[in-house]
Order: sequence, then structure tokens, then C-alpha cells
Amino acid sequence: MLKNMPKHGQAWPELKTEMINRGSGDAKWREGKTAVYVFNAGEDVARVQKEAYTLYMSENGLGPAAFPSLKQMEDEVIGMGLSLLHAPETGVGSITSGGTDSITMAIKAARDYHRSKHPSPAIQKLNIVAPFSAHPAFDKAAQMMDLELRRIACGPNLLADPAAMSAAIDANTMMIVGSAPCFPYGLIDPIEALGQIAERENKWLHVDACVGGYIAPFVRMNGADIKPFDFEVNGVSSMSADLHKYGYCAKGASSVLFRAEDLMAHMIFDCDGWPGGRMITPTLSGTRPGGAISAAWAVMNYLGIEGYKSKQKMVTDARETIEEGVKALGFEILGTPQVGIVAFSHPTENVFAVYKQMYKRGWFTSLTTEPRSLHLMLSPFHAEVTDIYLMDLKNSLEQVMSGDTDAVTESRYS
Ligand SMILES: *Cc1c(COP(=O)(O)O)cnc(C)c1O
Repeated sequence: MLKNMPKHGQAWPELKTEMINRGSGDAKWREGKTAVYVFNAGEDVARVQKEAYTLYMSENGLGPAAFPSLKQMEDEVIGMGLSLLHAPETGVGSITSGGTDSITMAIKAARDYHRSKHPSPAIQKLNIVAPFSAHPAFDKAAQMMDLELRRIACGPNLLADPAAMSAAIDANTMMIVGSAPCFPYGLIDPIEALGQIAERENKWLHVDACVGGYIAPFVRMNGADIKPFDFEVNGVSSMSADLHKYGYCAKGASSVLFRAEDLMAHMIFDCDGWPGGRMITPTLSGTRPGGAISAAWAVMNYLGIEGYKSKQKMVTDARETIEEGVKALGFEILGTPQVGIVAFSHPTENVFAVYKQMYKRGWFTSLTTEPRSLHLMLSPFHAEVTDIYLMDLKNSLEQVMSGDTDAVTESRYS
């Protein structure tokens, strides 16, 4: 039922109370019982996000001349991202509104770059070759830009299959894709092998590090043997890395990064054909919330390398504890996760039924469908609730094994 606007305004204290009450039915992320959608890096980080966001909440990143402060903060955030991800001195990038925006804009840049190199009299339908595990943002962008997305089956290890992807490339391929890691399995694709293909075939390789870009560098600094996945690999032309995921920044902030200016130049939209004056926008947005930029700048400087290393250690410690615990219950981990996501299947029991029991116990997490598994995207705060999770999982599994077949019927984000 649509609600009309109230004739007279209401007092803020009452509205605030009502808003807080409305959240009572939401997922209980503050208790650590949610392992999707929210990244909880602790009270102190939340406070920095909030205060830094409100300081520039009214300012607009659309106007760098009016707000040189925001432009400087954006440049510094992008600089930090580029250096963490081993970009050469020529590296450039933009803050976007999120991972979907970053991916869309990287594809737009790659498409226009391809067209500039292959001027063709007839309009060709261009394609993108990506692993089956790549994010739906690629489908969305491909649909918007009338491109074909070729999803190629992963290998038995659930990683992108370089040979199969190579075979799917043709003259109209404008981009190939690897994830670091992919969202469904949390596994980092063989980016070095994809980089070799990109160099050999002279194709644009985009690494989607939306969920890994701001955790993998620190996990590696903490000692994990993570294979090269970023601009360190020569064939990588662009990357997407979300600040509002493991960068622990306020929502509405991602980064799209390019090896060099001549690639990014194809992303920028420069319009003079209207009476309002020339408008130049780097990303999909017109108005760009200043708060998302200022909060990202503040959180990155608040945590610094040591702060991120310790937060990311909490994530990987929680993941390792959970891996041990679920293996002891008979689950099988999909592949070898190295960052913040872990997925695990069960050889005999229906994990969609286990999910239902966990849901009844207050857990809001995810599932994968091929193969069927339980999926967790962990935050530093989860380090405090691994015992409760494993206890609830043990009880849920036992309930399913004793014949409670009540199961969820699908996995969906909507
Ligand atoms: C989250 C995610 C995206 C999309 O990011 P949004 O900020 O939700 O638009 C893309 N790719 C991967 C691997 C992701 O995890």
C-alpha cells in the first residue's frame, strides 16, 4: 500500500525512534549473525565512517573545481589503491559508487578502446570472455552495452579455465575477465595464466577484485602465499576493487583502476551538446556523494597498513577456525580459500536444508548452487562468533540428518 506524504512534518525524535524500530526485523548483523551484505570492522571504524561521511555529506564530487578537497581525497584514495595493487607509475583510476559501477565503467573503457583500435565499417557485436563464476555485474553491463558475455565453465578446481577461455576468444573479443576472488567460491583465478593469454592475443584483461582488492594485499603481507593477481601481472589492463567491502569504507564507494591514462581516457564522458555547459563525468554517476569519498579517505588513513593487516588477520583467522570446524562436521571446503570468503558442501546431506535450520537460528548467510554449498563472507567481527556459528551448524546438521528436510528452495539476492 502506497503511503501519502504527511500533511504536516513530524518531529525528528519520533521519526528516529520509528526508524530504529523498523530495523528490528532486519538481519542481526551487529550480533555477527550475518555473513553477507555487511562488513563489520568494529565500533571505532564505524565511528570514523560516520563522522567522516557527514563532514562532506552535502558536497558533490561532480564539481572538483568547487571542491578541491574531495578531488584531493579521491586522488589519494586512488593512489593508495594503485600502490597496494602494484600499478606502475602510469596507473590511474576513479572512485565509483560501487563494484557494479566500476565493472560497467571498465567495460565501457575497454569497448571504446577496442573500437578505437579496430575501426570497422560494419557494426560488430563485441564479446567478453569470463569464467562461469564471474559476478552478474558483467551480465548487467553487457546487456546495457549490447555486448555478448561468454561465460566459460570453470575447471574441476572451480577456477577460471585458461585453456577453455582462450579457445572462446575471437576477433570480436574486447575483454577477458578473471576474479580475485570470485564471489561464489572465494577463490582467486589463475590471473598469471590469463595475463599470458591477454598478452598473446592482445586483449584487455580485467581483474575483478571487488571483494579481494583491499584484503588480498594485506593477507599476503601477513604471510599467505597468494599468487600474483593484480597489475604485477603484465597483461592486466584494469581492475575493480570495492572500498565498501574489505576496505571497510562507507557504502557507495569502489575503485576502478587502469594501468595507464590512455586506457582510462575511454571511460571519461565529455558532453558539450546541451545548453548547460560542458559536463565531464568519469563514471556512471553525475552527482557523486562527497561523503562516500571523504569516508573512504578517512578510514584508509585511520587504519593504515598495520590496521588493515590486523583486521584482515581477524578475518582469515575466523575463516581458518570455521574451516577446521566444518571439516570436523564432515563438510568439504570448495577449493583453497585465501581471503575472506569460504564455501563448503556436504557429501551426503542437503545443505539447503542445513541453511534453513541456520536461518531459523538467526543466521543470514549465502548459498551457492553449482555445486550446492553454504557460503560465508566474513568480517573481523566474526572472529568473536565462530564458536556460536559452529555450535549452531552442528545442531542444524544433526537436525537435518535426523530427518528434518525443511529446506530453502533457491539461493537469491533480491
Ligand atoms: C560485490 C561484488 C561485485 C559487485 O559490487 P557491488 O558493490 O555490489 O556493485 C562484483 N564482483 C564481485 C566479485 C563482488 O564480490
